Amino acid sequence: MKKWVIGLVMAGLVGVGGARAAGILGFRLLDFNGVLVRWGATEAQPVVVTYGFVAAPVAFSDARNCRAMVPMDDMLARSEIDSAVLQREAAAAFQMWEQVANIRFAAAAPGSRPDILIGAQRDPIAFAFADVTYVKGDGPLRPIERSLICFNPAKRWKVGFDGNLSVYDLRYTLAHEIGHAIGLDHPGGHGQLMSMHYKEDFRALQAGDVSGAVRIYGPRRSGQQAASFAK
Ligand SMILES: [Zn+2]
Repeated sequence: MKKWVIGLVMAGLVGVGGARAAGILGFRLLDFNGVLVRWGATEAQPVVVTYGFVAAPVAFSDARNCRAMVPMDDMLARSEIDSAVLQREAAAAFQMWEQVANIRFAAAAPGSRPDILIGAQRDPIAFAFADVTYVKGDGPLRPIERSLICFNPAKRWKVGFDGNLSVYDLRYTLAHEIGHAIGLDHPGGHGQLMSMHYKEDFRALQAGDVSGAVRIYGPRRSGQQAASFAK
């Protein structure tokens, strides 16, 4: 029987956590007191991780971040972002990771529980957070059971860069939080998409981000059939 454990607190793009020593590799793996996590059990085949958006208010009593989420509609409306644009930006953000590592993402079928659930915070705080829950058991590498990503709906959001660092780009923020959702932490320092602070110097994965994803999932291999992640 699977047991649920509480996910590590992860800072949003700005906030708690404090930068630790800069990782010379440019990435840092999520480390739950010595336990590393990943989607799926093996690098042999690319794992397919599903994602979806909150459709109705939902709460997770075992989560540290994103404990209560609501649909993103109001947040998007206030920022004048169409829901179709959110879908497009999310797909682009997931694509960044699957283009470099042996992991695939797919929109969850209607009515099914997505592996990565994205929504707006019911109680707005900071900018965005992720929460990762893994399957408890023996061994230093555990499968991720569920990831949550939540946005602060009280903030204004945008699509693209305009130099205003107080309004975050939706795609960049999503890509960063997806990095957490698949097992990466902040590397410390600057210059990576997984770095803690929001910058508009680049809108793609950097060398450290790629190395981190490849460390966990292996490099992307073309022409390989994907295997669904067995829960
Ligand atoms: Zn972060």
